[in-house]
Amino acid sequence: MENNSPKGNIFVISGPSGVGKGTLLKMLLAKHTEISLSISATTRSPRQDEVDGVNYFFVSKEKFQESIEKGEFLEWAKFADNYYGTYKKTVENALSKGINIALEIEVQGAMQIKEKMPEAILIFISPPSIDELKSRLTCRNTETEEVIQKRLSIVESEFKKRKYFDHEIINDDLNKALEELENTILAQGANKK
Ligand code: 5GP
Repeated sequence: MENNSPKGNIFVISGPSGVGKGTLLKMLLAKHTEISLSISATTRSPRQDEVDGVNYFFVSKEKFQESIEKGEFLEWAKFADNYYGTYKKTVENALSKGINIALEIEVQGAMQIKEKMPEAILIFISPPSIDELKSRLTCRNTETEEVIQKRLSIVESEFKKRKYFDHEIINDDLNKALEELENTILAQGANKK
């Protein structure tokens, strides 16, 4: 993506847990090194293969609270008993250098970004069906049954917010969804410059 403007674009990739937004974004970023990923803070414990500072900044509840009070987050949300937040600095630094930045966040956070930064491009990743999503979340094997149930209970309210997004991509076939995401980002990025 060519960027002639001094300000980068901000892309928000959201959608229910287990929909494959992380996988899609990873594939997109591997192809598009001109887009950088915002690393969030979370109070959740790291999963087996996760690395601090790479997947997330894993912080205590106290540290997270402190960052809220200091106004360090552009957005933050409580999701299934844990807190997640995007650092203002990460986004501001990228945008001011003309770097495009992508945020992979849940829906409440996406709504906060929409309000604070109307120029942000919001993309909602949908599953082909709720049943499919349930089986994906279960097969992923990274969460306990209790956590899976909690995440599934949030899905419907997340789904209702789809209408506030600029684009919806149904992740039925991963490669097709990637192509759609890529086209959306390239087209929108160019339009918004
Ligand atoms: P997970 O625990 O599966 O890594 O993430 C749970 C949910 O939190 C996912 O939907 C993920 O996209 C979202 N998430 C990750 N980082 C952030 C963030 O900084 N802010 C918000 N609002 N959600 C986030």
